[in-house]
Amino acid sequence: MTTTSEETPPGVLPAPTTGGTVRDRYRRHLSRGRAKLGDLFGGHVEVASQGAWVSTEDGGRFLNAGGYGVFIHGARHPAVVSAVVRQVRTHPVATRLLLEPEVAYAAEALLAVAPPGLERVHFAGSGAEATEAAIKMARTCGKTRLVSMIGGYHGKTMGALSITARDLYQRPFRPLLPDVVQVPYGDAEALAATLAGGPEACVVVEPVQGEAGVVIPPVGYLSDVAQLCREHGAFLVLDEVLTGVGRLGQWWGADREGVTPDVMLVGKGLSGGIVPVSAAVATAAAFQAFDKDPFLHTSTFSGAPIAMAATRAAIAAVIDEGLVARAATIGADLLDRLRAVVAPYPHLVREVRGLGLLLGMEFTGPGLVGEMIIELVNQRVIVNHSLNADTVLRLTPPAVITPDEVDHLVSAVDAALRALDRRYPAGRQAEVSGHA
Ligand code: PLP
Repeated sequence: MTTTSEETPPGVLPAPTTGGTVRDRYRRHLSRGRAKLGDLFGGHVEVASQGAWVSTEDGGRFLNAGGYGVFIHGARHPAVVSAVVRQVRTHPVATRLLLEPEVAYAAEALLAVAPPGLERVHFAGSGAEATEAAIKMARTCGKTRLVSMIGGYHGKTMGALSITARDLYQRPFRPLLPDVVQVPYGDAEALAATLAGGPEACVVVEPVQGEAGVVIPPVGYLSDVAQLCREHGAFLVLDEVLTGVGRLGQWWGADREGVTPDVMLVGKGLSGGIVPVSAAVATAAAFQAFDKDPFLHTSTFSGAPIAMAATRAAIAAVIDEGLVARAATIGADLLDRLRAVVAPYPHLVREVRGLGLLLGMEFTGPGLVGEMIIELVNQRVIVNHSLNADTVLRLTPPAVITPDEVDHLVSAVDAALRALDRRYPAGRQAEVSGHA
């Protein structure tokens, strides 16, 4: 269905009446591959969202347990929308010559909830840009050797890609940054051996690996990493782009073990899923060079008032509505219920694991994840795949999800699994595993 001008809200540009469908335009102007992917997931065209729901052009409604971790507040949280609208109507983008209050207020709000010891903020737009800023801060401190974790994901700009350890994404773009090593995640001894190679290292690690397929490290790992970095004079960057802002049922993954890194990366839900915002939150020492020279690392829209108003309102909403505690409680209940739902299908699902509202279902074969996502779309539920783990489907529902919506999600997973089981019953496990 094409939106006509009569149906279009005042002030919104009506859809063009010629030139074919949205899909045609994807194929012509964006990416044929992306258009194909859209076809694979039913060809739906999303046009609106509210809370845990996304609406499509044809009047359909989907429960959003995906969005790659952005929607911890749900979609269009009213407090964030009001703050953004107010800011659009007053001063959306600053001159960058004069001082501007919103960026100062947002930095203060973020530092008030950040782990103790972090004192300065560099705002950016994407997680990858926050990673770039952290790599540059490390370099200003003389840390030129990069150590990241196997399976780790930190974005796809050239610096971030250098430490995003997947050959598939790196190969077409080499050479990347030099002097990068990867060590196994969760293995403090392997890290110790690598750090013994010299004091110039910058270690980048996620508290729970997301794109690697929701990999939860052993208890004590993060504090061991922090301790090893201190012992070896290494710089520690904790990537909380996915795990931060309550996603794990705590404000930060760092809180699980009381760790303060040199730099913490934040993104995704930081601005309530409304305006793209990320941040590199640093200790005063790590930030020293950026502190002295404000032109050392700049970007036109960094800290724009519209993004900052969203950020401050989003942080306030997490506090006011207890979203961190809700993520913990809802997540624990959902984990139990999903484990019960998958129990009859060990030939399809190997494990369900998670912390807070970051949950992973590990399937017995890579092809099954794609099929499960399609089945869930048929059940009107949206989930995430994992960029660095072909066998893991991830659920990242919002912390505003209601008990009825959780029931809907669990029933949809149940129905989708039953459909997969009909296609691949238990006796045919070998064929399923080789399906991809
Ligand atoms: N770091 C982590 C842990 C992520 O999960 C992601 C994105 O999924 C990024 C960094 C990159 O963020 P962006 O896609 O906004 O560049």
